[in-house]
Amino acid sequence: MITRFAPSPTGLLHLGHAYAAWIAWEAARREGGTFLLRWEDIDQTRCRQEFETATLADLDWLGLHHAGPPIMRQSERFPIYRAALDSLRSRDLLYPCFCTRREIQREIANADAAPHGPDGPLYPGTCRQLSAEEAGDRIAEGQPHAWRLRMDAACQIAGSLQWRDLEHGAQTAQPELFGDVVLARKDTPTSYHLAVTIDDADQGIALVTRGVDLLPATHIHRLLQALLDLPVPRWHHHRLICNAKGVRLAKRDAAMTLRTLRENGTTVEEIRARLALPKN
Ligand code: GLU
Repeated sequence: MITRFAPSPTGLLHLGHAYAAWIAWEAARREGGTFLLRWEDIDQTRCRQEFETATLADLDWLGLHHAGPPIMRQSERFPIYRAALDSLRSRDLLYPCFCTRREIQREIANADAAPHGPDGPLYPGTCRQLSAEEAGDRIAEGQPHAWRLRMDAACQIAGSLQWRDLEHGAQTAQPELFGDVVLARKDTPTSYHLAVTIDDADQGIALVTRGVDLLPATHIHRLLQALLDLPVPRWHHHRLICNAKGVRLAKRDAAMTLRTLRENGTTVEEIRARLALPKN
């Protein structure tokens, strides 16, 4: 049993992160397995060393010790993501998208009916129609572009896919609800979906644990596993921790950061009780 906690070092950890880390750690501990850490730092403009240091101190304080070093770091793995993109591209499953956010919004606003997916309106497919020649010319000119998945073709190749969530049961993957998702961004040669899928496979993660807000994303991850011939783990999408107003905690909820709680004299046992976790 290998599990992981995969924070983005873009802020201080709060109670919600503590809960996520505990779920992963306990799942590994129950089966005498391994708990790993991974830095999800593909967004290099927002990630900072000080938040990595703070995360390590918080996990240490909570007693959630991870295996390693080394700690997997996504920003060191761009060549691996690139190879996966090459493989998808060679099967004509990707196309370059030159649209700006504003162009996409305009296109959607002008459409008679704009289909929506779990993340909002779907990409209207503007660049899907470009000829290989035109796309090649625009790339050669240096026009910024993302890479999108040809969702229809990908679903056809993969066929019907299933996955299993410990809390939400058996699921049939519905990646088509997301339309042509971006797998490599204009500014980053990967995306959350691609990086997380490849990394979980490379780390041998048997149980992917994370908040239920990411449950829809798993439909895409399951499809990518099929396309890239990766092993299929199980998932546990757990509840989210909310503040007093019932709103999901965010990095800006300063009062709930583990650092503040620790400095205020809160004990680890009190935190476990607050998260309704059983006594250690
Ligand atoms: N890096 C993500 C986060 O901080 C976690 C993603 C995942 O567990 O798949 O929310």
